Amino acid sequence: MENKNNNPYSLGLEKNAANYAALTPLSFIERAASVYPDRTAVVYGDLRRNWAQTYQRCRQLASALQKRGIGEGDTVAVMLPNIPEMLELHFAVPMIGAVLNTQNTRLDSETVAFMLEHGEAKVMITDREYSDVVGKALRMASVEPLVVDVDDPQFEGGTLVGQINYEQLLAEGDADFQWQPPEDEWQAITLNYTSGTTGNPKGVVYHHRGAHLNAISNIIGQNLPPHAVYLWTLPMFHCNGWCYPWSVTAVAGTHVCLRHLQPERVFELIETCGVTHFCGAPVVLNMLLNAPEEAKARVDHPVTVTTGGAAPPAAIIEGMEKIGIQVVHAYGLTESYGPSVFCAHQDEWDAMVLEDKVAKMARQGVRAPALEQLMVGDPETLEPVPRDGQTMGEVFMRGNNVMKGYLKNPSASDDAFAGGWFHTGDLAVWHEDGYIEVKDRSKDVIISGGENISTIEVEDTLYRFPGLLEAAVVAQPHEHWGEVPCAFVTLKEGISASEQEIIDFCRDQMAHFKCPKKVVFAPLPKTSTGKVQKFALRAMLKDL
Ligand code: ADP
Repeated sequence: MENKNNNPYSLGLEKNAANYAALTPLSFIERAASVYPDRTAVVYGDLRRNWAQTYQRCRQLASALQKRGIGEGDTVAVMLPNIPEMLELHFAVPMIGAVLNTQNTRLDSETVAFMLEHGEAKVMITDREYSDVVGKALRMASVEPLVVDVDDPQFEGGTLVGQINYEQLLAEGDADFQWQPPEDEWQAITLNYTSGTTGNPKGVVYHHRGAHLNAISNIIGQNLPPHAVYLWTLPMFHCNGWCYPWSVTAVAGTHVCLRHLQPERVFELIETCGVTHFCGAPVVLNMLLNAPEEAKARVDHPVTVTTGGAAPPAAIIEGMEKIGIQVVHAYGLTESYGPSVFCAHQDEWDAMVLEDKVAKMARQGVRAPALEQLMVGDPETLEPVPRDGQTMGEVFMRGNNVMKGYLKNPSASDDAFAGGWFHTGDLAVWHEDGYIEVKDRSKDVIISGGENISTIEVEDTLYRFPGLLEAAVVAQPHEHWGEVPCAFVTLKEGISASEQEIIDFCRDQMAHFKCPKKVVFAPLPKTSTGKVQKFALRAMLKDL
């Protein structure tokens, strides 16, 4: 091989300030504010703020936190709904090198106390709505953060639990604060705890580089145009809203904030604010589809939704397309900054009948621009499985939008990165065209008589049963087969159906060994991000 030193393109030069800067999503807001100062950045109820005002508030808050002694490597924990302050904190906190820990608003005090301690929170910013849980957690935790209340005039109830409110804190800062980008793009920007269904939650650390790249990757993945009007239906606490606080700011769009998800309000905002894009788990799309017809009729211009977080049943994608909302399917994990795989659209799908088209769209897809490599492989040998649409393997990822690692948990980080790939714990097949199709989480797959049954596939069939609202399938222990599928379902209001009718419907549509042997009519317990808690269903099954 040619000696590197003889490479004429090395130029004998080092990187310098003129041609190299650490990647960070923070520079997006400076650009939005300087290029489009008067454009609307934030809408919340009657409140409107432009980009100049929003940027100024971010800088002022950053300065105030710095004056209070917060700086590089300090954790600022927040439990907030999708309100303007939550957006501002995505910029203000990392502007001073601190790390934003957005906490899930549906957690209990014990878990919040665990996160405050594990993350060594120096500041906790919260809202009246969560004052009970947060107040209790603060009394339990051994850390003593500065506690700040957002006292939202648009929300009544709860109490104030802090020493100071957000506006008072902000007033302590300098409006023209000159923040510095991180020296190293590998520096931590946020901390996101996973749901911890198997023990204590793990703290996933994101860095500035990954956040910048994934924010841009979303823009390409969902086709976000300049000045997109983005509705906050996805919790901003979940994987930092899949990095959309930064994506929407990069396109100098408008963030339409929303405290509570109410389907009719979503359709109203789509019409009145001219919303062009939003995101949500399939369960959110299902809620929208079950809204009254007159609400759905308010979609009077092109709207795109990115869905992910769980497999969207084909029937839901079809339903959304029918009401005029285009669906983009994305897949990812907390560890991959949210979406790292998109079901990239191919023109020839448009010529297909709707059912075939949505079957293509229900697959998870191909690597997002920020992901370098995606593989379905053997978990032991790390050899790729054949692209035959049949052989199951684990999904593996590599790239700049894979987390830096877990906080204070080297053994979990080592396991997650074993062999130089990120192990997702999801099982999938790889199709000939390179698209992956997730079949299950490895802990949820059903093994019946030695055959794998994808619970996602059985659920997809159930969602086609007329009048079905929701379905989830779990393994039921069985003497002869080892495990058999058991379905938990809810029906739409006013609809009735028997267990046998549902089983017969499945038997008409799929191989008999895959059909539920039992159907339980019960509400489905869900996580705050819309995932059905299958462990809870398995526990319920034991008591039936
Ligand atoms: P948590 O693990 O806390 O529920 P995550 O957002 O990290 O939250 O969950 C990631 C998991 O969600 C993935 O490992 C996968 O099992 C599931 N998931 C995410 N998107 C999809 C999708 N489009 N299709 C199927 N499963 C998905």
